[in-house]
Amino acid sequence: MPTLKPPNLQNKIIIQITDTHLMDQPETEFVQINPEQNFHAVIDDLLQRFPHIDALIHTGDLAQIANPETYTRYQNYMQKLGIPFFQIPGNHDDLAHFPFHTPDPIPTVIELGEWSIILLNSAVQGQTDGWIQTEQLQHLKQILEQQLDKNIILACHHHPFAMKSHWIDQHKLKNTEEFIHILEHFKHIKAVIYGHVHQDSKHVWNGISFLSTPATCVQFKPLSHNFALDDMAPGYRYLQLKENGEFETEVFRLKNFSQKIMQEISGY
Ligand SMILES: [Zn+2]
Repeated sequence: MPTLKPPNLQNKIIIQITDTHLMDQPETEFVQINPEQNFHAVIDDLLQRFPHIDALIHTGDLAQIANPETYTRYQNYMQKLGIPFFQIPGNHDDLAHFPFHTPDPIPTVIELGEWSIILLNSAVQGQTDGWIQTEQLQHLKQILEQQLDKNIILACHHHPFAMKSHWIDQHKLKNTEEFIHILEHFKHIKAVIYGHVHQDSKHVWNGISFLSTPATCVQFKPLSHNFALDDMAPGYRYLQLKENGEFETEVFRLKNFSQKIMQEISGY
């Protein structure tokens, strides 16, 4: 008789959501979809699938209309879920209004048992592409040195490596060299998670998994030279962080989801 294994409470479950692109009013549409509705549908889906979540991490482009009201509405909604939640800004966010957990450029560290998740700000006010400030990278190096006994996940908004999609690669993280020069000294970094590219991808560098995640709003077509939307459903990333330093990850998308995407829009 197979015995039912009790859940291992030492394993931590984190969910990454990204690119909600919320408007200032919940009913307002953006490229013919309602970002608020999509975002809520994603949250409903992940709550149903995962009865226990240790942290929800939003990797940026929280707002399309980056007003204080948008951020307040988001925080009020998330607070009601009763799950610890964290967010970092994307290029569409306004750094002046963004609800940082630690004063920028100090990275936020989320400690979960044997694991630490370090949140970085790669957004630069008024720019679409990304840059992690030197001062922030110095903080990161110190934290990594202090946390040698932990397994590390890093999170930022912009993609550090090219996606082979010409238009979106113009908007990547621009100081990847400087960033990975710090990472290459450490063996305890397991993954870097990000948004921005509105698609699922995986790239391995130096034993570290670099993972992008579908947006909760519209999807971008992979490997496209010019800007193009994809008709894939919105999604999110699940990560199970194990006590032994290994992790499992999977992307889930909404089922029975149909929407007419506006193919004619020329950029974002
Ligand atoms: Zn975005």
